[in-house]
Amino acid sequence: MDTENTKLKAFLFPWLAYGHISPFLELAKKLSDRGFVIDLCSTPINLSFIQKRIPESYSSSIQLVELHLPEFPQLPPHNHTTNGLPLHLNSTLQKALKLAKPNLITILKSRKPDFVIYDVIQLWTYGVASSLNIPSAQFFTSSAAMCSYFVHLYKNCDAEYPFPALHLRDYELERARKLVQRNEKKDEPEEENIMPKDGIMLISTSREMEGKYMDYLSEIIESKILPIGTLVQDPVASGEGSMKIMQWLDNKNELSTVFVSFGSEYFLTKEEREEIAYGLELSQLNFIWVIRFPNGENQNLEEALPQGFLERVGDRGMVVEGWAPQAKILTHSSIGGFVSHCGWNSISESIEFGVPIIAIPMQLDQPMNTKLLIEIGVALEDVRNDNGALHREEIARVMKDVTSGESSKQLRSKVRNLGKNLKSKSVEDMDAAVEELKQLVKKSKIKNGSF
Ligand code: UDP
Repeated sequence: MDTENTKLKAFLFPWLAYGHISPFLELAKKLSDRGFVIDLCSTPINLSFIQKRIPESYSSSIQLVELHLPEFPQLPPHNHTTNGLPLHLNSTLQKALKLAKPNLITILKSRKPDFVIYDVIQLWTYGVASSLNIPSAQFFTSSAAMCSYFVHLYKNCDAEYPFPALHLRDYELERARKLVQRNEKKDEPEEENIMPKDGIMLISTSREMEGKYMDYLSEIIESKILPIGTLVQDPVASGEGSMKIMQWLDNKNELSTVFVSFGSEYFLTKEEREEIAYGLELSQLNFIWVIRFPNGENQNLEEALPQGFLERVGDRGMVVEGWAPQAKILTHSSIGGFVSHCGWNSISESIEFGVPIIAIPMQLDQPMNTKLLIEIGVALEDVRNDNGALHREEIARVMKDVTSGESSKQLRSKVRNLGKNLKSKSVEDMDAAVEELKQLVKKSKIKNGSF
């Protein structure tokens, strides 16, 4: 271990969503393995969740640092996270985090990190760190494809995006444009929402999957893009309380079962729930389906599903309310396909564990991630109609095709190979990124006269 490294302290500041904190934690572990000391900063509710996922061996190198948000009547502390947060409160949470800037400054002054890695969602952190003479790097927790697509829309709204594989359907493009416009309209000084030039952006990806998108992104944001490999949570650590599910899976045939889950933030509409339920019935496949409702919505699971659904599927299906040990489930040999919204962590886990994807993208980065997966050859999409509605027959058809139909062999062999290649490349990528971070600190120390 490098003695120079042992002195370096990184301050990691993710957005308050589980899908962001989780890859930040995996990054913290990898930095810790390379001799860094880490502060991981989030709200108490998020830290209580993430604490359980830190193995004993990291307890002295990864410190959890609490950030308290200002009080908003509609945002009590149990909502200081996106996990279970009703969707309409998301922008209030962003506002609350930004208003916690003075608390962040106090924390940084007392923790004195050598550098900060912040989530691209809170670009304003760059200004905070710079004002304290602390160098910083951004971390983007989704695909380079998606990031380049959004920056392209933001900067050259009228020009055609250069990669046709990511061509969005009309309703998807309309939503993407709305999202970009919402960011433009943010009621805050423009410089706080601009990506710093000549900076460093870490992305949890690899050139093997996204080389051309990384190059284009680097060109349009005028920053260095450093791939650090996909950051996948440890399936054993994610598997708390999984005994019943794993036993159930043990009794199913190899590759006979689909895992159905739409991440930590999206809540299915009633129509989507119905089409998926009937799709699962029609498919005749075994399934585990995670269903979530927003905090404060006490819905009865049976009533939320089509009448008689649970009896009709019987032991062929398991419905889990709230949260399931996804990474662990995906490692089980009975799983033949993952019906996913295509959040980047879910994709990374599916590729790592060699499971082909049945894509049902919902929002945000998911449509672009889906197109990328199709281009790479590890997923098929449940094609919606022109208005974006799902259809049970199509869901059943794609699920069967991916698990045991004509496409299944090719998809499975592609995803397994890709998973293997990414694993072997990610150590090299992380080492290279660490060297760049060390240079960043060194340059800043020389500039500040403290080297
Ligand atoms: N996850 C899980 N159990 C669940 C739902 C989600 O373990 O029941 C984990 C999943 O394994 C992944 C993360 O939550 O690591 C979701 O991240 P992703 O980027 O896929 O989607 P997001 O939640 O950001 O939409």
